[in-house]
Amino acid sequence: MLVNNQVIISAELRKRFADARRVVVLTGAGVSAESGVPTFRGGGQSAVWKGMPFDKISSAGMLERNLAEVWEWFNYRRELIEKIAPNAAHHALAGWEKRFPDFTLVTQNVDGLHQAAGSSDVLELHGNLWRARCKTCGMKYDLRDKESSESRTFICSACGNYLRPDVVLFGEMLPAGVFERAVLKARSCELCFVVGTSALVYPAAALPEIAGAAGAYTVEINPELTPLSDLCDEAIQGKAGEVLPLF
Ligand SMILES: [Zn+2]
Repeated sequence: MLVNNQVIISAELRKRFADARRVVVLTGAGVSAESGVPTFRGGGQSAVWKGMPFDKISSAGMLERNLAEVWEWFNYRRELIEKIAPNAAHHALAGWEKRFPDFTLVTQNVDGLHQAAGSSDVLELHGNLWRARCKTCGMKYDLRDKESSESRTFICSACGNYLRPDVVLFGEMLPAGVFERAVLKARSCELCFVVGTSALVYPAAALPEIAGAAGAYTVEINPELTPLSDLCDEAIQGKAGEVLPLF
């Protein structure tokens, strides 16, 4: 609820938050955007790279046609993100991990800012920009690791085949098991927050629905009302970085 531009957290939610043991939070692009991470979805200049729409350069087809160009795009994105710091929302959620006995953070973001803020167990639905994985054997590489990033050859040291970004591209499936883990947690949580995403992208959209159907209290935090607002028990209008620290 928003009254006179003041964020209001209901007494009901405050009580549930104080009593909760099992909490699930789903975060999306809005949380990262508050740190200055480009979403590439806003249209205009930011949605185009070298004259190519970002959903084309980030696609499974492009991976097959021009892997070098895909790497160039992801290297560019990592360079952008390298200078970006987590915000108050990331820090608040890192604190929640310690506060609740059973806390699950699920994110659609690939920038690693939750981990940078101190979250240690993040279910990454769309992978991570800071990881590469072998196209053939699946071996994963940390691109923050000097050796992997300096070599810039992006060749698997285990099997000699090409590495690719460990990020879910357009036209690809989600990484096996990650969403399934999120669903299990959603089914048994008492509180489910959706933050900085209208969660309209399937299957993330299913999480608050599953949690709500299983009896959890569902809360949306977004600057604007979204199609999700009516489906949640409570919709708090505001920026994640301003609302989350209020709890
Ligand atoms: Zn390999």
